[in-house]
Amino acid sequence: MTSELKRVWVSQPVIIGAGPSGIATAACLKEKGLPSLILERENCVVSLWRNRTYDRLRLHLPKNYCELPYMVFPPDFPSYPTKEQFIDYLDTYAKHFSIEPMFEEEVQLAEYDSTMGFWLVQTNKSEFVCRWLIVATGENAEPVLPEIDGISDFQGRVLHTSSYKNGDEFEGEKVLVLGCGNSGMEISLDLCNCGAEASIVVRDKLHILPRDILGKSTFGISMWLLKWFPLWLVDRFLLFCSWLILRDTQQLGLHRPEFGPLELKSATGKTPVLDVGTLAKIKTGQIKVVPGIKRFTSRGAEFVDGKVREFNSVILATGYRSNVPSWLKEREFFSKEDGYPKTPFPNGWKGKNGLYSVGFTKRGLLGASIDAQRVAEDIAQQWNSETKHFQFRKNKCPVSEGDRSGMINHREACKNR
Ligand SMILES: Cc1cc2nc3c(=O)[nH]c(=O)nc-3n(C[C@H](O)[C@H](O)[C@H](O)COP(=O)(O)OP(=O)(O)OC[C@H]3O[C@@H](n4cnc5c(N)ncnc54)[C@H](O)[C@@H]3O)c2cc1C
Repeated sequence: MTSELKRVWVSQPVIIGAGPSGIATAACLKEKGLPSLILERENCVVSLWRNRTYDRLRLHLPKNYCELPYMVFPPDFPSYPTKEQFIDYLDTYAKHFSIEPMFEEEVQLAEYDSTMGFWLVQTNKSEFVCRWLIVATGENAEPVLPEIDGISDFQGRVLHTSSYKNGDEFEGEKVLVLGCGNSGMEISLDLCNCGAEASIVVRDKLHILPRDILGKSTFGISMWLLKWFPLWLVDRFLLFCSWLILRDTQQLGLHRPEFGPLELKSATGKTPVLDVGTLAKIKTGQIKVVPGIKRFTSRGAEFVDGKVREFNSVILATGYRSNVPSWLKEREFFSKEDGYPKTPFPNGWKGKNGLYSVGFTKRGLLGASIDAQRVAEDIAQQWNSETKHFQFRKNKCPVSEGDRSGMINHREACKNR
């Protein structure tokens, strides 16, 4: 670590990332009477939702599965709140818990100093020294940009879904959407609704389920059924309902995996697509399904079936990845390969030496909320026992006063910068 950076001692837990996971953790700590310091690389809270999502986005899951701890959604919000409503909710949440992150602090390095017994966290501006470090930088920290043969030769527009806003500027264009998760499917629909000719690359097998069954959320029904029935049986039920509502997707070039949707989700974390209307457009041929790409050409792409097609633009719906391996110098808890905790949910929230993770569960906001509560509970226990111990020692031995005299709180840290 460089010594030119200003070193700031913080007595409270340091949270990296002011997304839903980070602010939920700060709120849970606050509920237990503990302060915290959030370091966020952008200049606002929930920057992913504010800056890197498309206009027509709504929560994919019903609102009651997306609430953060201690605050419900306003009752007048629809079951699937819009992106703006969700941002409003998160802003209100941050305000309610007086969460004031330090913005434009990008963590570039964090490592545990075993001699001191503290974490050293280096950002672009300062170095923080803390006892508890909570990683909440998310599963979607960086866009995945695949290297496909010839992509640099393609003369049209290439953009990742994180930069896509709406289909207006693609009107009349032939657009290739690469990737058929929830975002790829929904963006294809948006393009089609805006007068673009959308083709979607479907390389692998996938499960598409109706978002709702008889007006009830498919996700909600699954959660309810899982209380009584085994996973495989709920999967059978979901596939039967899908067949009744969506009919055979196989004929459209959308082949189902051999494992059921919930079994696959639990084994691999792969989320089924919840259809919001794309399938109907595929059925009518307004959205085309195309196989994997062999290579890009200057004007389009050649596919694995040997066909060559021309496109004006390519949208990479190729997902995101964690950025933890690029800055966290730690080997046991987080995997170097994918940047997720090595132990999966529900046990992947606590590492060693005061290291925690929130929001790496592959279970969306619900998983993040569960993590946040566990982390706060655990730190609060340590904080309380250490404070008692400290007070006891303080009464007996005044020298220990010095242990904490070098530490300052968040506001002082901000003031001193
Ligand atoms: C399009 C889309 C739709 C989704 N819809 C749903 C849904 O309906 N329901 C659901 O449950 N889940 C949904 N998810 C999944 C997930 O719940 C969200 O991605 C959610 O935003 C995750 O919150 P997070 O705080 O863990 O991560 P993020 O929201 O990504 O927040 C992480 C924060 O960390 C910051 N950060 C990253 N690296 C650093 C660094 N080095 N230093 C400092 N700060 C850093 C980022 O700037 C960001 O603000 C969706 C995801 C996407 C992409």
